[in-house]
Amino acid sequence: MSSHAPQPILLDAVRLSGLLDRIAARIGAAHVRTDAHDLAPHLVEGRGLYQGTTPALVEPANTEEVAFVVAACAEAGVPVVPQGGNTGLVGGQVPFGALLLSLRRLNRVRDLDPVDLTVVAEAGCTLYQVQQAAEGAGCLFPLSIGSEGSCQIGGNLSTNAGGTAVLRYGNMRELTFGLEVVLPDGRIWNGLSRLRKDNTGYALKDLFIGAEGTLGIITAAVLRLFPAPRARATALLGIADPETALSLFRRLRNAAGDSLTGFEIMPDFGMEIVLKHMPGSVRALAERHPWYVLAELTSTRPNDDLSQLALDTFEAAFEAGEIEDAVVGSSEAQCDALWKLREDMSDAQKFEGGSIKHDVSVPVSKVPYFIAEANRLCEAHMPGIRICAFGHMGDGNIHYNLSQPEGMDKAAYLATWEEFNRIVHDLVASLGGSISAEHGIGILKREELPMYKDKVALELMAAIKRAVDPRGLSNPGKVLLD
Ligand code: FAD
Repeated sequence: MSSHAPQPILLDAVRLSGLLDRIAARIGAAHVRTDAHDLAPHLVEGRGLYQGTTPALVEPANTEEVAFVVAACAEAGVPVVPQGGNTGLVGGQVPFGALLLSLRRLNRVRDLDPVDLTVVAEAGCTLYQVQQAAEGAGCLFPLSIGSEGSCQIGGNLSTNAGGTAVLRYGNMRELTFGLEVVLPDGRIWNGLSRLRKDNTGYALKDLFIGAEGTLGIITAAVLRLFPAPRARATALLGIADPETALSLFRRLRNAAGDSLTGFEIMPDFGMEIVLKHMPGSVRALAERHPWYVLAELTSTRPNDDLSQLALDTFEAAFEAGEIEDAVVGSSEAQCDALWKLREDMSDAQKFEGGSIKHDVSVPVSKVPYFIAEANRLCEAHMPGIRICAFGHMGDGNIHYNLSQPEGMDKAAYLATWEEFNRIVHDLVASLGGSISAEHGIGILKREELPMYKDKVALELMAAIKRAVDPRGLSNPGKVLLD
């Protein structure tokens, strides 16, 4: 771990009680929760890194109620932490003494337009709900991440979520036309634009996307839809090393153009622990290989024979010595089974003891060098460390995860987390990369941000925070150091 939890904020009990009474009178007492049993699941995150505290969890039902709560808190000087599905991986959604505001009840799809290819969704809709709404209209909402059943659109926007199809469709910022936001003083900014073209000044929506709740609370968004794909082919390839994966990536992109939707890389160690620990995982290739690529092609043209395109491309790659073996899924079930091998890779590491994780990105062309050099440095630092570097090679985002040496004490291993952060993040920075590709900064990386972010960029971020939230009441202690 890299960053320590902020000091809990202490609130005046009398003022707090008056505030909660006011809020209960507006949104209903049943939606102001103070019972420890009700609060408990909202005060820890999935990795168990932080234990939060809050005087109450409030659950407004619509934008006006969110605005009322935030204005009342501002008047009382009480900070607010917004929480969506609580699946975030950097602790941004955990309160430390602040009031916790759940978006759960803002869960309506307000509108879906298949001509404009837009959906207007409230912040508390789950990602899955929006995917289903799009599918029902013959469209695609392409954000796809492992937590999609429980994460919410507001959380996806606030972390600028990425996932497996960024290569083709971009991340949340690129999937959004407009936002509705409750500002830290309770004003509502209605920026629900559906326009592709709108050059009327600063791109305000981009400030709130990826802000992790530090500039206000997103209550709704206009999201982009796409025509639904009507042909799909998924392939698993056994290869020698990440350098070969890069050649293969270029070859596939040249052959398939923007039909290349996903290009993931996985090491043998990762594949073997998935097969060992995750129920329902099936070895798809006859032999083991040092590395694997999972590639997905999709097309909106129903007659595109993507399997044939893939096979022709792989035949040429095989002759060039880039591929050792390949399998192409020929049914939805086979394609899903291949994806399951990749999707289970993070969970499988839990069975191998302590795991030190890095969510980093470098330019795509530098991924092979990054992996080789990081492996060399980490293995020299701790002989026996087991490296699981996998992820979205097609967009340069590698989950550089390190499982403890077999037999080592887990706590002693995890105590070295910051040593590995320096090794991995210094290398990433030297390659022009980012220490957070898709999970954000939250608490986990807020002490590291000043080491790696451009000084002027940090000054601009602090100035924006002061301008939008001068009293520091919106998700305090996250992203920026106080
Ligand atoms: P939360 O965890 O509730 O909150 C995250 C942050 O957003 C917090 O700072 C919170 O304060 C803020 N926030 C929440 N709602 C709002 C709002 N309405 N307005 C303002 N701020 C708000 N992430 C990826 O990018 N790509 C992946 O592939 C991916 N895979 C994952 C797989 C698994 C199994 C898990 C557990 C997580 C994964 N994640 C991934 C991380 C996580 O799911 C995403 O960050 C997700 O977008 C968070 O959504 P949430 O609703 O759970 O937000």
